[in-house]
Order: sequence, then structure tokens, then C-alpha cells
Amino acid sequence: MRLPPNSYEMHIHTAEVSPCGCATAQEAVRRCIGLGYGGMAVTDHFHCGHAHVSGGLSQASWRQRIDFFLTGYQNACNAAPEGFAVMLGMELRLLRSWDDQNNDYLVYGLDEDFLRKNADFDLMTLEEFRKLANKHGLLIVQAHPFRNGMKLREPELLDGIEVYNGNAHHDSRNDIAALWAKKYDLLPCSGSDYHGGDTGEGRAPGGIVLPQPVADVRQLVQALRRRDYLLLEE
Ligand SMILES: [Zn+2]
Ligand SMILES: [Zn+2]
Repeated sequence: MRLPPNSYEMHIHTAEVSPCGCATAQEAVRRCIGLGYGGMAVTDHFHCGHAHVSGGLSQASWRQRIDFFLTGYQNACNAAPEGFAVMLGMELRLLRSWDDQNNDYLVYGLDEDFLRKNADFDLMTLEEFRKLANKHGLLIVQAHPFRNGMKLREPELLDGIEVYNGNAHHDSRNDIAALWAKKYDLLPCSGSDYHGGDTGEGRAPGGIVLPQPVADVRQLVQALRRRDYLLLEE
């Protein structure tokens, strides 16, 4: 199987940063190139539990946590050949908010500067993070909102939701998510949620297809905002 030109993976993890991941950044890049993607957004987990435990960072400073968080993305950049776009993303959990104990938010449009200058944004509520995201032009996409244990958030706090999540380990009820996105006019998003191993087994690769290639995450966000894309899904 070969994906259409200008396909972009929107949800992928690296073993370096995500404790549930078992494909290294280099293996993730290889998988995406093998399938025909033009690039990928690295969306490693970011919340106290993951970023502390996996890096042995229980007493870590914000700087150390960001250094650690960026390793998967940086390794992917180093492994990527010319013309394959590696873009920084994040799968954020806002643990301090009771509503969001199990929710995951894919964040697109952030960069290293944002991460370093906005310490402790993971301790915000979604309402607070929404304001910060507006200020910096970030997109907030609730990941797999209809998976067991998730709490669906108000559409006005979100830019979009995942309507296709290709992780074979969970039932994300993608069909219901697609109806929800339509009802509330949310950006529909798609990603493999690839963690290596058999997480993609038997499932179609996820992502979006753009009319033309993008070189960086800013262009990717612009295309999403314009709704100038098609979805990869089953
Ligand atoms: Zn994971
Ligand atoms: Zn994920």
C-alpha cells in the first residue's frame, strides 16, 4: 500500500519519550517513509506521569523536562532525509483538572521557544490552556474523544477532534467522533496513534492529505485552519 502524495501522519509516538512507545524515532520515520508519507507530527505524551517517570525525572526542572520531551522529535529530525518534514506536536494531559484526568489533547503549532517560555502549562485547566493556545496560534485537537474513560469537552474549548484514531489496542468509536465533529463544526483530524509493535496492526494508517507539500508545522496548521485537506481513514 502506498499513500497519496502529500500525506502527513498527525499522531505518532517515539520510544525515547513515550513510555508506551516501542518504536524509536528512527523506526517511526522509516515506517512513515515506507508507507509514503511526506512528513509526520511527533506527538509524544506530555504530562507529569510520563515525562517524569520515563526519564527518571521525578525531581526534574522544567528545562530538564523539556530537554527530555524534545529528544524523540530531535532524533526524528536527525533520522529524516531531505524533503521529509518532521514537525513538533504534543499529546498533552492536563492532570490537575478533574474533568481532564484521562483526556488527551493533541497540540499543533508549538515550538521549542513556546515550550521553554511557558513553564507548567501542563498544570493549567483546559479553559486556561485554551487562552494560551489562542495567544500563540496553537490548535487543540481532543484525541480519541469517544474512547472508554474519556470525557468529552465543550466544543468551544477545542479546535478539532480526532475522528480517526488508528490504534488497534483501543476502540476509539471513530464513527461517533465523526458525527460529533460534524454536528459542532470541529476540525476533523486523523492519525495512526502509532506506538510501534502491533499498535497499527490491521488498521489503516491515519493522517491528512494536503493539496501541496508543507515544510513546517506552521504551514500544516494553516492548512488545517483553511480546512484544505482530506482525511486518511478506513
Ligand atoms: Zn501512548
Ligand atoms: Zn497517542
